[in-house]
Amino acid sequence: MSHLTQKSAIVTGGSRGIGAAIVRRLAQDGANVAFTYLGGESQALELAKEIESLGVKALPIKADSSNEKSLSEAVKKTVSEFGKLDILVNNAGVAIMAPLDEFSIEDFDKTFAINVRAPFIAIKEAAKHLQRGGRIINIGSINADRMPFANGGVYAMSKAAVQGLTRGLARDLGPLGITINNVQPGPVNTDMNPEDGPFSAVLKPYLSVGRYGQPSEIGALVSFLAGPDSAYINGASLDIDGGFGN
Ligand code: NDP
Repeated sequence: MSHLTQKSAIVTGGSRGIGAAIVRRLAQDGANVAFTYLGGESQALELAKEIESLGVKALPIKADSSNEKSLSEAVKKTVSEFGKLDILVNNAGVAIMAPLDEFSIEDFDKTFAINVRAPFIAIKEAAKHLQRGGRIINIGSINADRMPFANGGVYAMSKAAVQGLTRGLARDLGPLGITINNVQPGPVNTDMNPEDGPFSAVLKPYLSVGRYGQPSEIGALVSFLAGPDSAYINGASLDIDGGFGN
């Protein structure tokens, strides 16, 4: 029996990239997995088919993380379809980078709506349903701790906020038997940050392992945190960054 058998999970932003890899890994480890998407409907439906072929339930939900009602409803729908909720993964995110004088207030608000406000909304709704043994996993970024290039101040701030939220809420949730942790990837090969894209030359010198991470490597850590063996980890920010943050 796999360590997540019979568990019910929701992953935000599961249609592509790191989110899709997390969906896959939780499903491979036995969980029924709901996941949200916004623009990537065809990718989401394909992923749902793929994970159903593993013998678990899939529930793709179109939900905009920047919309409170839409996101809360997605959590509620997961509970009503799967009968319970054990695992919430806040993955959906945007990385808007621009020089200070060109960075618009609209992009500041968008970054905060998706990277910071949305995890809070999803956690608030999920906490109504999670039982002892429940798990909340946020996907932050190593840029919360290290930002060695220009134009990323707002992104770094948003991920530092996730770190603080995780640390603080661990005090609320720990006594209830629910853990909350923050996974901080370094450069990972996705549409957001392709390993063969123009920006990779800037990032690679910071990677002591000499390469980008793959989404499946983040999925593996998330799956561990979602399972019973991680029960003594709470409020932590865990780097998975190829040495970027050293
Ligand atoms: P991608 O850009 O490759 O994928 C983003 C995902 O988020 C998509 O599934 C997208 O859905 C979803 N999404 C974006 N906006 C919304 C929204 N408003 N509502 C619902 N879903 C939304 O990103 P990554 O996979 O690279 O990143 C995932 C997370 O990992 C982010 O939080 C990011 O900050 C973090 N991260 C990534 C790193 C990297 O190097 N790749 C490094 C460190 C952290 P759809 O396509 O359906 O619209």
